Amino acid sequence: MSAQLAMHVPNHALSSMTPSQTRDNVLQVEHLTVSFDGFKAVNDLSLTVERNELRVIIGPNGAGKTTLLDMICGKTRPTAGRVLFEGRDLTRMSEYQIVRAGVGRKFQTPSVYEDLTVFENLEISLPRMHGLFQSLVFRRSSAIVERVKAMAAQIFLSERLGHRAGLLSHGQKQWLEIGMLLMQEPTLLLLDEPVAGMSPREREQTGDLLSRIATGRSVVVIEHDMDFVKRIAHRVTVLHQGKLLSEGSAAQVQADPRVIDVYLGH
Ligand code: ADP
Ligand code: MG
Repeated sequence: MSAQLAMHVPNHALSSMTPSQTRDNVLQVEHLTVSFDGFKAVNDLSLTVERNELRVIIGPNGAGKTTLLDMICGKTRPTAGRVLFEGRDLTRMSEYQIVRAGVGRKFQTPSVYEDLTVFENLEISLPRMHGLFQSLVFRRSSAIVERVKAMAAQIFLSERLGHRAGLLSHGQKQWLEIGMLLMQEPTLLLLDEPVAGMSPREREQTGDLLSRIATGRSVVVIEHDMDFVKRIAHRVTVLHQGKLLSEGSAAQVQADPRVIDVYLGH
């Protein structure tokens, strides 16, 4: 909590800073490497993500995109290098501590409580709700009800609050899981291919959602659909064989001959 409070720099302090001072790196990946039986899935990778930035990571299958997110969220331990989040080295922290520090991670397949309603899924995701049992016996305050309803509106599920999550479409489950992560108010949200399997209309809505949530927090999204990438990305990082191949605006990386050669050309 104290780390989050410390972020609230008063406006007058920001306005007296020069532009370079206000550039605020939330995430610094430094020389990150992981070796699986001698194979380097991520190889000496360095990148930074700024506050309020929506970064998209692209690259061929096996480039190391998911492994990078695994190392940021503590699921996989790097062989070398480190990951600084607001100055703290995540590679020394447990997955639980990393979540508590303000990093939310969404895996490729949606994981929601299928037998609970949309409302209940959002409710149990509130911080301080440590388990299913505690949260179900917890008396609902009107403040909690309002928060859940506001989140449901953000994720296009207002009409589904009382429905069992198991009955939602694949895309709606993805939204619900994003909403569950947002209930914890993460500073950094990591999303692995959130629009895979979504309809064009759902993709469009998800693009709006991600753009909206990237104000006030940083979002790192792994994605393949270049039309989608162009629409949402502030900056794009291209990975290839565990290394950084190119970085810049969507237009810049699309025009990069190295990117065309190993990824976009196919
Ligand atoms: P991407 O998400 O970019 O498609 P991944 O990060 O999933 O790629 O995988 C990168 C490479 O690392 C792949 O060759 C994959 O087979 C390998 N890999 C990932 N995790 C492991 C693991 N736990 N053990 C061995 N190899 C792995
Ligand atoms: Mg992957």
